Amino acid sequence: MNCSAQEIYTLLRHYDKILLTAHVSPDGDAIGSLLALWHWLQLQGKKAVMVIDDDIDDRYDFLDGLQYINKPEQVETDDSWLTVVLDATGLGRIGQAEKLVRGKVLNIDHHISNEHFAQWEYVRPDCAATGEILTYLFDLWQRDWNTAMADALYTAIATDCGFFKFNNTTGHTLRMAALLVDHGARPDFISEHLDARSLEKLKALSKVLEHLELFDDGRISCLSYTPEVLKITGEHTGMYMDYARNVKGSEVAFTVKYVSDKETRVSLRSKGMDVNAVAAVFGGGGHVRAAGCTLDKPLDEAKKLIVKEIEKRL
Ligand code: 5GP
Ligand code: MN
Repeated sequence: MNCSAQEIYTLLRHYDKILLTAHVSPDGDAIGSLLALWHWLQLQGKKAVMVIDDDIDDRYDFLDGLQYINKPEQVETDDSWLTVVLDATGLGRIGQAEKLVRGKVLNIDHHISNEHFAQWEYVRPDCAATGEILTYLFDLWQRDWNTAMADALYTAIATDCGFFKFNNTTGHTLRMAALLVDHGARPDFISEHLDARSLEKLKALSKVLEHLELFDDGRISCLSYTPEVLKITGEHTGMYMDYARNVKGSEVAFTVKYVSDKETRVSLRSKGMDVNAVAAVFGGGGHVRAAGCTLDKPLDEAKKLIVKEIEKRL
């Protein structure tokens, strides 16, 4: 059950050693929320340590503090540490960082599929991003702000709602974004950095598009990241999802990414269908219109299974 905003404030003030973590394959919301809370705790004089069990896409390099994010093996904790799990539904989503969770846990998240696993939680599926929740909390607490926090939180919110284009964008989302701009967030600076592509990544687009397929008269679109494609794109492929989403007539878009001969990573996006339910069939989760899962199947087989599950709901 959710604790109150005041209880979270008291909790963060109470602990001196705080581990901050977020989900694997971190997106703008995971990274932005992590950095913002870390900056805020620094301002409160706390020892806070950030951990993510994954490499971070270099498109986020412009965010202040990124260089202080550790890999799990670089950190040691004990049961006197509070762990704050951001933007993740369960401990299964933080990879090897789970081994560092030795004391109590606070979970701040906005996923509908949240597992309600933590001692303390603040789960708000009505918010477009975990960054939106943190902005609300920091504003409520009326404490310190700096530009680094504002930029990180604006990045978190904007990336999770497609720069205010997706249907999770509410009046509250926009009000929180406005508040961040008042605190010094730079929408132009952030967009310019996030939109900038290396020539290599841009050229890779033609290869990626060769692997775009349509099913069910174009109502389903799919991008396949085969080992051959991944060799050209590199591991960070998030920027290509919109090409599948934006195919005219496509109601559900998904990507299948090669992990091994027996493992495939799937990302789903929809314009209305509940893809959280599709992901849940395979043990994954997320939101109604954006979700993900991992299948212990080869890429082509995973693709067929996902198409079948989507077709049931079309
Ligand atoms: P993405 O497709 O960008 O990896 O993920 C879309 C959304 O679904 C994100 O909010 C992400 O946190 C969530 N998500 C992705 N994969 C999983 C998964 O395997 N399990 C759960 N619970 N959520 C996931
Ligand atoms: Mn999020």
